Parts: sequence; structure tokens; C-alpha cells
Amino acid sequence: MAEETIFSKIIRGEIPADIRYQDDLVTAFRDISPQAPTHLLIIPNVLIPTVNDVEESHELALGRLFTVARKLAAEEGIAEDGYRLIMNCNQHGGQEVFHIHMHLLGGEPIGPLRAK
Ligand code: AMP
Repeated sequence: MAEETIFSKIIRGEIPADIRYQDDLVTAFRDISPQAPTHLLIIPNVLIPTVNDVEESHELALGRLFTVARKLAAEEGIAEDGYRLIMNCNQHGGQEVFHIHMHLLGGEPIGPLRAK
């Protein structure tokens, strides 16, 4: 059984977060340390520690991440200019919170994918 992170507490409303969307499958909230004018995290409500732990049974929730990203990008007014979706995995990917999450970044040019 994977260990819960702070994100499980946010999903259950046990600690505060600026929640922008929630349904039975996913929750979206503003990143506490934004790296762009719009920086949201969209996460499955079920605890999946890393992309390496993804199973077919997760496909509905993981697909929902994209429809919610599209909806929130429109609400944030960044859909037409564009934005970046990122999922980090483990140490080389820079993952710090082991409850998979999609970063939605926009509101300005995000820059190269990898700083040289
Ligand atoms: P990652 O490095 O991909 O694991 O990203 C984790 C993200 O979670 C970082 O961008 C953090 O700023 C963000 N984060 C950590 N704790 C919180 C929190 N309590 N509320 C909102 N965002 C958080």
C-alpha cells in the first residue's frame, strides 16, 4: 500500500488549497509555488505514486486529467495562446510529491523544455 502524500489531504479537504475543480475522479488546485502566471495541478483522486504505477484500471481517471486541463485552460484564458502539461516521474524527472499530478503551466511563454 503506497504511502499517502499531502495531496490526499487536499482531496479530502483536510488541508487548505485553492481548488479549481473537483469531481469523483480528479481534483485540480493552484500550485503553492507557481512557476508561471497560471500553474495548476490536476491529480487523480486515487493514489497512484508515479507513472510507473499506472494500470489499465486508472485509464478513466487519467483520461479525465486531460478534459479537466482543457476546461481549466479555457477558464484561465490561456487556451488560445497555449500552455504546457507536464508529469514528472521519479528522481530524474524531478518528481517531489509521490501522487501523480499533471502540471498545467501558462500565461506566458514557458520556454525550452529543458534548460541547457
Ligand atoms: P513535482 O516536482 O512534479 O512532484 O511537483 C510537485 C508540486 O507540488 C510542486 O510544484 C509544488 O510546488 C507543489 N506543491 C507541494 N505542496 C503543495 C500544496 N500543499 N499545495 C499546492 N501545491 C503544492
